[in-house]
Amino acid sequence: MPVTEDLNDSDEFFQRAVSSGGQTRDYSKQIEALLRRMTIEEKAGQMTQLTLETVVKGHDQTIEIDPAKLQKAIGKYGVGSILNCYNQALTPDKWQDLITQIQKAAKSTRLGIPVIYGIDSIHGANYVQGSTLFPQENGMAATWNPELMKRAAEISAMETRAVGIPWSFSPVLDIGRQPLWPRFWETFGEDPYLAKVMGVAFVRGMEGNDVASTDHVAVSLKHYLGYSFPLNGRDRTSAWIPENYLREYFLPTFAAGVQAGARTVMVNSGDINGVPAHANRHILTDVLRDELHFKGFVVSDWADIKRLVHDWRIAANEKDATRMAVMAGVDMSMVPSDYSFTDLLIALVKEGSVPQSRIDEAVRRILRVKFELGLFDNAMPNPALKSKVGRAESRQVALQAAQESLTLLKNTNDLLPLAKNRKVLVTGPTADSMISLNNGWTYVWQGSEPSLFPSDRLTIRKAIESKVGKANVAYVPGTKITRPPGTASNSTPTNIEEEVDIPAAVEAARSSDVVILCLGEGSYTETPGSISDLTLGEPQLKLAEAIEATGKPVVIVLVEGRPRIINRIVDKAGAILMTYNPSNEGGQAIADALFGDINPSGKLPFTYPRASGVVTYDDRPFETAGAHWAIRPQFEFGEGLSYTTYQYSDLRLGKKAISGNEDLSVSVNITNTGRREGREVVQLYLADLVASIAPPSKRVKRFAKITLQPGQSRTVTFKLRRDDLSFIGADNKPIVELGEFDVMIGGLKERFTLK
Ligand code: BGC
Repeated sequence: MPVTEDLNDSDEFFQRAVSSGGQTRDYSKQIEALLRRMTIEEKAGQMTQLTLETVVKGHDQTIEIDPAKLQKAIGKYGVGSILNCYNQALTPDKWQDLITQIQKAAKSTRLGIPVIYGIDSIHGANYVQGSTLFPQENGMAATWNPELMKRAAEISAMETRAVGIPWSFSPVLDIGRQPLWPRFWETFGEDPYLAKVMGVAFVRGMEGNDVASTDHVAVSLKHYLGYSFPLNGRDRTSAWIPENYLREYFLPTFAAGVQAGARTVMVNSGDINGVPAHANRHILTDVLRDELHFKGFVVSDWADIKRLVHDWRIAANEKDATRMAVMAGVDMSMVPSDYSFTDLLIALVKEGSVPQSRIDEAVRRILRVKFELGLFDNAMPNPALKSKVGRAESRQVALQAAQESLTLLKNTNDLLPLAKNRKVLVTGPTADSMISLNNGWTYVWQGSEPSLFPSDRLTIRKAIESKVGKANVAYVPGTKITRPPGTASNSTPTNIEEEVDIPAAVEAARSSDVVILCLGEGSYTETPGSISDLTLGEPQLKLAEAIEATGKPVVIVLVEGRPRIINRIVDKAGAILMTYNPSNEGGQAIADALFGDINPSGKLPFTYPRASGVVTYDDRPFETAGAHWAIRPQFEFGEGLSYTTYQYSDLRLGKKAISGNEDLSVSVNITNTGRREGREVVQLYLADLVASIAPPSKRVKRFAKITLQPGQSRTVTFKLRRDDLSFIGADNKPIVELGEFDVMIGGLKERFTLK
């Protein structure tokens, strides 16, 4: 079903979501009984996670279980978990077959403990052929519609579980404040509040009220903690984050995810202030367990215990690294391809360097999640569930999500929407690319395999042709983005830009009424996607400037996972539509928006910088250093135009002064003053005027997403609580300081005092 309800108050959604999570039966008797029977070897096995490659032979679709390898992993080592796909997405049949064989092997071990299979269902069940794919998290955040996020997560969970996989390594709850970082698009953007509301929607959608049911899976909140803010922007490198900022900006999403009942957490592959997260007992145990009361299990990221030796050099050998990580709080190691972790852990326990009690604790947590998922009752895939993959109604939700994510950043003289009888030139490297629409984690890790995309989904070019007729559309690529061979490895740069036929594009522009110029990026994630400059590739800028020089009206469509710098071409563009990575339904959604079949309602979930570097909306210099060109954003966080107009009026505070734990009610009127129905995201910002830690210029604290008919007015009322006025003080604890605050909505401002 499409999600049509208005969101009247993000806080109501959030409170409902976190309070409905985490209910479960008590399995302690079964767990303790099992634990008493387990040997040290069996316990170490449960804490081991290996990649699918270690139990199969062959390649791609032709992989088969290798009985000898499976016997070694499950029969001999008692491995508790297997992950990932091998090279490419598999059909539901193939998945069910593999999982059945793995679970049969597990069942025939001495204790018959089922395997927990885990996979990256990042934007849908993206390793299952024929699955429903949704916009990536950046785009989902731009919808500002947590109900829609929840529905998308429900479908992703249903399609993952349908093939027999009960555990997903998602959502990414890292905060996207460093746009160079190649996983920026995997985040819900730069703001902790927006990300936390969308994050709990994801968790609740995936885990549901009964995680054992055939429609749900356990989530893994990742990558705990501080992964997304590397100083140099490159993946898996150092972050320098003081603890008060770690708690202010990076912890709230994880705290909310834990509160919402998340069963597992995956660790950051980088380091914070010189301490690799995998060896950081403070964050993995003191904060996660003692403060946040996380009850599930912690899984390492890929080979990260080994990397404590080779990359971080905080351990002299893998044995010591294993001890450090387990003692810091890692319960399961994504090894991922050998038995070193298992062997070393057994030795460490036998010699007393890791106490039995610590592995008992880890295994208890792992077994609890397996019980909660119902795997002890039945871990076998059910053939009847395969028909749940890729249903037409699920695809409708994906289309709606793509439509609601589209963010109109510029529209001079109402250039958009375009009339359907105009002659358009479609050009640019992302115009005819399913890869750009989807980005990484799509059928293969890097999203880079064109042959795997379903043939009935439309690129932007094809969707425009089908909407307005081929006769009205000319297509010239202008430039292209390609990948050097072998970029599944860690080589960079991953995407190479080249000119194709810029003069032909210019020629075609001259004989068109309007140019739709599709720019942006190819696909990437993790280390292969690292770049050192955010500036859009020179071939694309050259194409854009040549097209703009013709004087024809130009609509720039941005298909990109991070805000690439476009300041050279913004002023002459008539319209700019930001589309993020809207996935398989994105081409359709974009054509719908360009030709007015839908009215854009997305709002930027991050600041679009004007020059390469880190700029966030809550950063203080914005207002005071207005003179500095580079620091003024190209487009602001929360920005997004519509084909109608809204007028905000009558911002009212319940009181001019509050004290103690009093709530403050805030209301505002919004009127649709244009001629079309529209959906508007009402955003409430708060500014603390004076504080002991230099206060952010403003922070978003509430939002609503409402539908307004032409001429219609509505009043939206929010309630702010004392917590909303707090920040993390110099002693790393939340503090509320008395004084004045400004509340801002839609260009209006009112002041109140906290006494
Ligand atoms: C990524 C994780 C992912 C894991 C398993 C790692 O390289 O950092 O996000 O869940 O691989 O695919």
